[in-house]
Amino acid sequence: MFFPLPISTSFSFLCLLLLHRLLLHSYIFSSPLSLPQPVFPTVNLLDSKASQGELRWLSYPLHGWEEISGVDEHYTPIRTFQVCNVMEFSQNNWLRTNWISRRSAVKIYVELKFTLRDCNSIPLVLGTCKETFNLWYLETEEREQESRFREHQFSKIDTIAADESFTQMDLGDRILKLNTEVREVGPMSKKGFYLAFQDVGACVALVSVRVYFKMCPLIVRNLASFPETVPTDSQSLVEVRGSCVNHSKEEESPRMYCSTEGEWLVPIGKCLCNPGYEERASACQMCRPGFYKSAVGNAECSKCPPHSVSHHEGALSCACEKNYFRADEDPASMACTRPPSAPRNVISVINETSVILDWSWPEDTGGRRDLFFTVLCKRCVGGVLRCEPCRSNVRFLPWAAGLRNTTVTVTDLLAHTNYTFEVEAQNGVSGMAVAMRQYAVVSITTNQAAPSPVTVIRKESTSRNSISLSWLEPERPNGIILDYEVKYYEKQEQETSYTILRAKGCNVTLSGLKADTAYLLQIRARTAAGYGASSRSFEFETSPDSAFSMSSENSQVVLIAVSSAVAIILLIVLLYVVISRFCCHSKSKHPDEKRHFGNGHLRLPGIRTYVDPHTYEDPSQAVHEFAKELDASCIAIDKVVGAGEFGEVCSGRLKLPSKKEMCVAIKTLKAGYTDKQRREFLAEASIMGQFDHPNIIRLEGVVTRSKPVMIVTEYMENGSLDSFLRKHDAQFTGIQLVGMLRGIASGMKYLSDMGYVHRDLAARNILVNSNLVCKVSDFGLSRVLEDDPEAAYTTRGGKIPIRWTAPEAIAYRKFTSSSDAWSYGILLWEVMSYGERPYWEMSNQDVIKAVDEGYRLPPPMDCPAALYQLMLDCWQKERNNRPKFEHIVSILDKLIRNPGTLKITANTTSRPTNQLLEQSTSEATSWDTVGDWMDGMRTLPCKEAFSGVCYSSCDTMPKTSTEHRDFQVLLSNPCPEFRAF
Ligand code: AMP
Repeated sequence: MFFPLPISTSFSFLCLLLLHRLLLHSYIFSSPLSLPQPVFPTVNLLDSKASQGELRWLSYPLHGWEEISGVDEHYTPIRTFQVCNVMEFSQNNWLRTNWISRRSAVKIYVELKFTLRDCNSIPLVLGTCKETFNLWYLETEEREQESRFREHQFSKIDTIAADESFTQMDLGDRILKLNTEVREVGPMSKKGFYLAFQDVGACVALVSVRVYFKMCPLIVRNLASFPETVPTDSQSLVEVRGSCVNHSKEEESPRMYCSTEGEWLVPIGKCLCNPGYEERASACQMCRPGFYKSAVGNAECSKCPPHSVSHHEGALSCACEKNYFRADEDPASMACTRPPSAPRNVISVINETSVILDWSWPEDTGGRRDLFFTVLCKRCVGGVLRCEPCRSNVRFLPWAAGLRNTTVTVTDLLAHTNYTFEVEAQNGVSGMAVAMRQYAVVSITTNQAAPSPVTVIRKESTSRNSISLSWLEPERPNGIILDYEVKYYEKQEQETSYTILRAKGCNVTLSGLKADTAYLLQIRARTAAGYGASSRSFEFETSPDSAFSMSSENSQVVLIAVSSAVAIILLIVLLYVVISRFCCHSKSKHPDEKRHFGNGHLRLPGIRTYVDPHTYEDPSQAVHEFAKELDASCIAIDKVVGAGEFGEVCSGRLKLPSKKEMCVAIKTLKAGYTDKQRREFLAEASIMGQFDHPNIIRLEGVVTRSKPVMIVTEYMENGSLDSFLRKHDAQFTGIQLVGMLRGIASGMKYLSDMGYVHRDLAARNILVNSNLVCKVSDFGLSRVLEDDPEAAYTTRGGKIPIRWTAPEAIAYRKFTSSSDAWSYGILLWEVMSYGERPYWEMSNQDVIKAVDEGYRLPPPMDCPAALYQLMLDCWQKERNNRPKFEHIVSILDKLIRNPGTLKITANTTSRPTNQLLEQSTSEATSWDTVGDWMDGMRTLPCKEAFSGVCYSSCDTMPKTSTEHRDFQVLLSNPCPEFRAF
């Protein structure tokens, strides 16, 4: 601030000069540098105010400029110069500064602070009063030695006039102003210079002189440091390269321009902090503990991702916690992960020498998405401890390692062999944590399997009426080959009449053939597991008939051969008729036996044919033919697990000499039985003993020679399927359910191939083992139905499980594999509804009537459409339209192979075509509840009354309908009945 001071006007003129001096004293010293400081940094070359002592500038002539001491507003002493010779003529007073070094400046600035008297305010001025003074300069390489002043060497910078002067006359109300003038000088080239102030008759006080140059300051911009820079040229900008601050790296060369005004302009390029460093306060500083930075860049340090830590400053990445890992390709920003837990719910569906393994995702994926599965196959002898890797020819479909789906099919295993499969879930870090890897183990025993087809057949020789052939054993015999069946027929007969031969070895001679005739021939091998598939048809021709060209001797031989062949054939036919009359059920034990079937009407079983034990006069003979007699001392009973018609069912162990102990189920015949009961009891064993299939309950043997009489079968840990499903309601995946259903269908295919009709196929008669393998059980004829609590007497007598039985079997006891297929459809419904009772609590009579009128069960909740379609197909009224079990197996196999199809549910898609449904219950396509279903059953008029009972799901239906008895009434006159609910 500049402080004005009122001045009294009562002083005389003479005093004014003195007063002016005094005022200058008092004002100068109290006049601070009140103007704003320069914005840009400057470097002073001279500052008169900074001098504590005398400045000793050169004054010429001596009575001109005068050096005076004073104080500023802070009472700091300063030096000033003044002159006021206005009363004299021809003034030329010079004041020269000391030599000033230029340093690096090219352009310098001179800032003057001064006061100047207004000439008009000085009365009676005699001289030539001036209101300006002149500023000069002189460049020199060094300071002048002599203190002589040479005026003519100086160059004029400018004439300085005051912006404000003061008038002595009205000092009382005028403000005394301190003038500030700045002049630019340059470009300069010599090392230093002098400044000079020329007074030509003014009254002036030079309060301060400051000489400075401007400079761009040291600065950090974009993490690059730019040094102090003095503008060199008055015209252009100076380009300056910055250098990256510590711990940073140049991304693009940093540059800036220093302007002549000392201002930094146009920053270009930048530096970036190194990994482990982030920008803070224009510097690159280390990441704090718990943070990391893995790459060069201006990003801040990031917090360590889950399951990782950084204990030190400047971390490039965070280390994983114990038992957590980071795969090579994982970015540092990703959480540390660990190997997944083992797959869950591994189930195996064994089909002869193949097995389908199916499992669920592990509970813990280890925090990663790159999950895959690997299946290791081991062949085990005597328990899982003695296992070796499977043979290389075992095939995995699609493959064994790197599976993305949760299923694999393993084929080409050995028959009757124990295998262990280790199913492991892996992810990208499994390789780093071998010790932490977990896998699920499933052990299986493959079943007997029929031999593979004969593929190589060679013709050894041909004659007019015979062909000799040989062949190679099948690639996979799957057991000891008992014999081969050779079937042949004339090509043009088209299989309407054919001949079958049995051969012990790998060759046969077909005799009694027609000359010059083409024959088609198929061979199949037989082992204890039955017949394998037939080879493809091979064609052979006999030699042409050359009888006319033969000698009479030869023709006689031919004649004898032909007649003996005819005789043999006749004999065989005769033998066959006799055998089929009396021993149709017994198996042929003669090698090279030859059978001939006219018109091909006789059923040619793919495998052995079931023999009805009731055809034996003495049923105990049948038992001993088909079941092994066990010594009771080999059996240990553990506990009772169920109750059968004839006695208790127990679990226990069977230990046969030189065999491993095994868990078994033991059915006992209770004391006090009749002969008939004993026969019926053992009939089941006689039937069961004829079967050998992975999905049929296996008979281990019987105890008939001591008491109690027992039937010993393999033990099924999970008991009967209906209660098992009820216990695990909604706990299985679609594919697991289909796997179970596929097993049952496969068992039923085997039974129907053998000519056995089950008659009581239902979930309660299926047993489940610990691997979720389902096996068909409960064999017998009338006994089964007597035994079954579901069986009810029909009007024609006999007990039938109405809800599971096909209409024709109920109506006129037409039990066939097709009626079994109907039951399979009901069983399918039971499985998909987790053990729900078919038709809930409707009475048997209602069920019979509803089914007869074309109504069918609605799809269970969330039932895949494909499975509901299969149910409807099984429930075709015309039994020949129902699918064969072979077809059912292949449908289910397809579903297993394409699990995506299971996602389409019957409730959400349009209902599959079904004639019966279309005829009478087309609305059923959207039934979700029993109520909806009932709606569909022409009960719309009563819907209100019915819904008043407030049932909405299948669960409530049994309760609400327990009182309902007559479905016929409900259909014809429904309303009153509904009120009765
Ligand atoms: P069944 O007389 O065959 O109907 O058997 C009666 C009950 O005994 C069944 O419902 C099962 O709970 C149980 N059971 C029968 N056979 C076996 C078996 N092989 N393994 C385990 N439990 C069985």
